[in-house]
Amino acid sequence: MPSTMQALVVLEPGSLDVREVPVPTPGPNEVLARVRAVSICGTDAHLIRGDYPGFWPPSFPFIPGHEWAGEIAALGPGAELHGWKVGDRVAGTSHDACGVCQKCVEGRYNLCENFGKPGLHRQYGHNYQGADATYVVHGVKCIFRLPDGLTFADGALIDPASIALHVVNRGGVAGGDTVAIIGAGAIGLLSADAAIARGAGRVVLLERNAARLAKAASLGFETVDTSDGDPVATVRAMTAGLGADVALECAGVPVAVQWALGLLRRGGRCAAVGIPVVGVEIAMQKIVLDELELVGSRASAGEMRRVMPLVEQGRIRVREMVTHRFPLTDYAQALATFNDPASGAIKIIVEP
Ligand SMILES: [Zn+2]
Ligand SMILES: [Zn+2]
Repeated sequence: MPSTMQALVVLEPGSLDVREVPVPTPGPNEVLARVRAVSICGTDAHLIRGDYPGFWPPSFPFIPGHEWAGEIAALGPGAELHGWKVGDRVAGTSHDACGVCQKCVEGRYNLCENFGKPGLHRQYGHNYQGADATYVVHGVKCIFRLPDGLTFADGALIDPASIALHVVNRGGVAGGDTVAIIGAGAIGLLSADAAIARGAGRVVLLERNAARLAKAASLGFETVDTSDGDPVATVRAMTAGLGADVALECAGVPVAVQWALGLLRRGGRCAAVGIPVVGVEIAMQKIVLDELELVGSRASAGEMRRVMPLVEQGRIRVREMVTHRFPLTDYAQALATFNDPASGAIKIIVEP
């Protein structure tokens, strides 16, 4: 095992360097993994820009990255008791929760009441070292066996696929539902597949970016160009005036939340996974009088294992999301491509 490794280090907001850092050591019930693929997430772009000061990350310098796959290189004490061995192929996820607070005991570890408390909770790539490096340490709660039929690049997209399955579960999609999804980025597109897997009869994706609209259409979904007229009126016209049973807000901007609520059928439900960085005015009167439901959806909670067979069977099409690949040394170029709306980027795989 080498003593140093290559890592992407964010020195301060907007300032990146790929440099040699010490290889971390796995502690009790942790593994050290050789990272083979890591995917750039919208949260990475925000975090690197410094959009969550003092929270994600708590301080700089910082190594981000939380959607990854690789193979186990070393075991910390006790990891073997959980069935892990060196060489196992795994996909990682970020929430290493305390496991003992009431929310963790209820299975909602994404809402761990000890969030961010040192020694009790870590969120890799958010408040603890992430996977944009040759090696990463993860607790055994946060690694999942990668089936032989899936590549490491597929494995890096299991975390976002689990988030898509979680938002569809939070939306309570039922058989035959019409589901409207605002935002055709990776989470929106993966949620569209997850909605079909949960029995949706019809999925409509709302988006303004031409490349993403084309992608959604090529995957077989109905689309609405939000830059062309009133998207709420368009969805109503497509549904005989009734609206959608379920809306999934995957864009994270105020107007998207307003559209999501506006296009719902009476008694409909909106699950929001986008995280607006400013306040949003919502139509409270409509929520009350139409008995609408609005729920948040944070990361995933139990869906990593559950989404694996759906990905393996091609029902959640992670491979279709990958538009670009870069070596870790070219991370700055990869991020610029990710942030350029004209690049057509959906998911970018970085290989350390
Ligand atoms: Zn992510
Ligand atoms: Zn907890």
